[in-house]
Amino acid sequence: MPTFIKNGRVIDPSQNLDGLFDLVLADGRIAEIVPPGKSKATAGETFDAKGLIVAPGFIDLHVHLREPGQSYKETIATGTMAAAAGGFTSVCPMPNTSPINDSPAITRWMRDPERGAHVNIFPVAAASMGSQGEQLTDFAALKRAGAVAVTDDGKPILRDDIMQQALAAAAKLKMPVVQHAEDTRITRDAVMNSGPTAFRLGLRGWPPEAESSIVERDLRLAAETKGHLHVAHLSTAAALAAVRKAKQAGIHVTCEVTPHHFMLLDEDITDYNTNFKMNPPLRSGQDREALLTGLADGTVDCIATDHAPHAHHEKNAEFDRAPFGIIGLETALGLSISMLHVQRKIPLKRIVELLSFNPARLIGLEGRGTLAEGSRADITVFDPAEKWAFHVAHSFSKSKNSPFDGWRLQGKVVATIVGGKIVWQSGENRK
Ligand SMILES: [Zn+2]
Repeated sequence: MPTFIKNGRVIDPSQNLDGLFDLVLADGRIAEIVPPGKSKATAGETFDAKGLIVAPGFIDLHVHLREPGQSYKETIATGTMAAAAGGFTSVCPMPNTSPINDSPAITRWMRDPERGAHVNIFPVAAASMGSQGEQLTDFAALKRAGAVAVTDDGKPILRDDIMQQALAAAAKLKMPVVQHAEDTRITRDAVMNSGPTAFRLGLRGWPPEAESSIVERDLRLAAETKGHLHVAHLSTAAALAAVRKAKQAGIHVTCEVTPHHFMLLDEDITDYNTNFKMNPPLRSGQDREALLTGLADGTVDCIATDHAPHAHHEKNAEFDRAPFGIIGLETALGLSISMLHVQRKIPLKRIVELLSFNPARLIGLEGRGTLAEGSRADITVFDPAEKWAFHVAHSFSKSKNSPFDGWRLQGKVVATIVGGKIVWQSGENRK
């Protein structure tokens, strides 16, 4: 357990900091943040962060850890180990487990130390009983049990009255309602984005409007109820335009984008490789351009992975039959630096904001997403210049369903610190 993190370039959007600082950690918190060599403390172990970025720990608002019920795909222990290796100090598991996390008992079970989590767990509980979209869960009780938001992820809330009730009830508790925006009435049997690639491959495509129509409906309801709508894994230009307009109109809306949606296109599906099958699907070049603009200009609030492990025997099937989703925790930073910073010149500070500061504020995590004195010592140390190859065989996830196997990436996590304790470390940086 280090006492000092010295000589690093500290990037902390919460204090508008970008410069050389030393951190002093004590009792799992940030005790001091001072110019190099200026700390009053003397004794203790030092982590030398020379040449590295020291950032508030990353927070992933959207992961599937598959426990309870599908531990052959992932467990809370293996999924959070992958999170730690990816620089995430906190993750928000979705409720589409088996059984569905629609009760305080399951929320507490997920957070129980017995699960062996390597990073903090902040569950997003189901918005409706069994995620059936008919009867709301007890938001207040779920919040007391540790849930930070509600959603029926994977099963969008289609009924207007239920979505309206959810937004109104969550607003009273200052919780966001997270919507997986997909009008499933028009995406039945569709497996990828509609367009020339779907046509050429002979696969059934779904139109971008399946997303934007739900987002537009939800924005109207958010305006009416003054609730907080958070659009999960937003993937289309039309939905992003609607969110931008709503933000300008003062509607309480936030959104997240996944690395695979800002990196890949539907046309990358060349050979029916099911590691390119996800929901929402990979979109067109025009959609991706819009997402990149939103990531740069502040319309997009967070980068979230939608880490969705599936076993080999499930993914190793016809494209039509394979389940949707890919793992993403260990490639998120490398893809963000490679695409957003190297290619698109988005400043590192903005990337830290997308991965840490904004997600913490969005779900109201006090003392996280910041390196201010007194806050939790949840810290991600990374090298923005290091080039490395991602090999899925080495992933800590139980599942290996990644389209990025063998990819060369720039930007590597060097250490992940949770509550002052190093939970993952690459190479030898301890002195
Ligand atoms: Zn989803």
